[in-house]
Amino acid sequence: MLGSMMRKELLISDLIVHAGKYHADTEIVSRETIGDMHHTNWGEVAAASRKLASALGKLGLSMGDRVATLAWNNHRHLKIWFAVSGAGMVCHTLNPRLAPQQFIFICNDAADKAIFFDKTFMPLITGTKEHLNTIEHFIFMGPRDEDVAATLPEAIFFDELIETGADDYDWPQFSEDTPCSLCYTSGTTGNPKGVLYYNRSTMLHTFAISLPDGLSLSSQEVILPVVPMFHANAWGIPYAAAMTGAKLVMPGPMLDGDSLLGLIDDQKVTLALGVPTIWMMLLAAAEKSGSKMETLKRNVIGGSAAAPSMIASFREKYDCDTIHAWGMTETSPLGTSNRPKGKHSDLDDDAMALLRLGQGRPPFGIDLRIVDEEGNALPHDGKAEGALQCRGHWVVDTYFGKEDSALTDDGWFDTGDVSTIDEDGFMVIRDRTKDIIKSGGEWISSVDLENIAVSHPGVAMAAAIGAKHPKWDERPMIVAVKAEGADPSEEEIIALFEGKVAKWQVPDAVVFSDAIPLNATGKMLKNQLRDQFGNTLIERGLADA
Ligand code: ADP
Repeated sequence: MLGSMMRKELLISDLIVHAGKYHADTEIVSRETIGDMHHTNWGEVAAASRKLASALGKLGLSMGDRVATLAWNNHRHLKIWFAVSGAGMVCHTLNPRLAPQQFIFICNDAADKAIFFDKTFMPLITGTKEHLNTIEHFIFMGPRDEDVAATLPEAIFFDELIETGADDYDWPQFSEDTPCSLCYTSGTTGNPKGVLYYNRSTMLHTFAISLPDGLSLSSQEVILPVVPMFHANAWGIPYAAAMTGAKLVMPGPMLDGDSLLGLIDDQKVTLALGVPTIWMMLLAAAEKSGSKMETLKRNVIGGSAAAPSMIASFREKYDCDTIHAWGMTETSPLGTSNRPKGKHSDLDDDAMALLRLGQGRPPFGIDLRIVDEEGNALPHDGKAEGALQCRGHWVVDTYFGKEDSALTDDGWFDTGDVSTIDEDGFMVIRDRTKDIIKSGGEWISSVDLENIAVSHPGVAMAAAIGAKHPKWDERPMIVAVKAEGADPSEEEIIALFEGKVAKWQVPDAVVFSDAIPLNATGKMLKNQLRDQFGNTLIERGLADA
């Protein structure tokens, strides 16, 4: 024997043990489901997680069992995460914004044995209960509540359940190749698919996102994950906050601009994370109130493309540096984050702003490539566009319950996105494969068109879609939502495109709509928009032009 190093499995329970031991007095602040604020710390969360893990064992749950949550970001949800995964069970976060049919499908597909739920979701539970075939325990996330007990007599109450657990419970030790959590894609088309994360994949992802070139987390940060714990595990923030000992501010159910602004200012939040629609509401609230969000130094935008005008507003008006990040449920989720390199420090403001618009580059642990329609690898020159594929330590191989691997024959996962990649690995999403607009065989990026449309101050939100056209197959058009109190005209918006895109890429029409339908993770439902507005050009007689 030449010597050896200790072998220790990478387990989620280690995260909470560490946070409880070395960051015990660091605060965890959360908004309760009924609105008031709750204050605790990593020490108490660690102790409660152990006790809850013990209580779950006494309920009869054991390793590998799926335990679902239907909950906001709050302290009980955090405790459930560590208790369930730490005990070797699988924490299955359910997205309450799914249609009830999909919700039922997911619970049954995962064969969840227990479900924790916040009060908000009582109607969803009672409305679907008789179809949830595998759930044996319904656990209400709160103290005993007589209304809940009257409606759902079998309900168990979190605050009572935890008291049945042992304080001296020892975290079980097992292989890092043990599943820890489960998350379903939002299933914009077809049924959602489950991605089963492992202790090992999650721990490696946690290290990667914490690094300076990931999301740069540390014990000095006060982190507000607006992104829900049911959306790709809140992008891994609860784990990474435990690893780094950061303070967490959990927003509960109140995700409107005013509430978030209040949390940022009251709790001195330094870093917040969420999808673009959240930031739109926050910017509007800050504008109205006059708050400068002084403590907010950085925000992470992901889930959908961040518009340049949004990144510029954060930087110029609030001195807040936006990290644009890309990922998917299938990639745990972080695939890239936009962190400039040392060599970029000489860039002038405009060049730097341009660099920051893209989705960034992969951290160690993720490898990217783009391929053409025949699967041939394309150059990383920042120009060639192709299907984005990835592989790495925290990328799905086989979906939950499926036999076949989801990977290509040579071991890559096809993301369904179209992108460019430059020589430094900076990746720019051009579109989703199914949303890209195909005009006369040429591709037009809907993202580019949307970015231009929302740069009009009178446009709150815009979607670019391909409208049917007999000659060109599709022509671009914009569906726009007017900003409050504004009344932009179609001509004004079309005029914005001149000089910014090639003439043949200028949209043929703009229609105004009260809202743009969003899926359960806040992405624009372009298939619905195509159904609704796809015949606009034909109806307007523009299609012969
Ligand atoms: P779903 O496909 O079920 O909605 P995800 O929430 O995992 O599931 O979404 C992943 C997709 O979201 C990516 O493939 C990509 O199309 C889109 N996406 C994520 N982040 C970004 C981003 N920063 N810019 C553009 N698109 C993004």
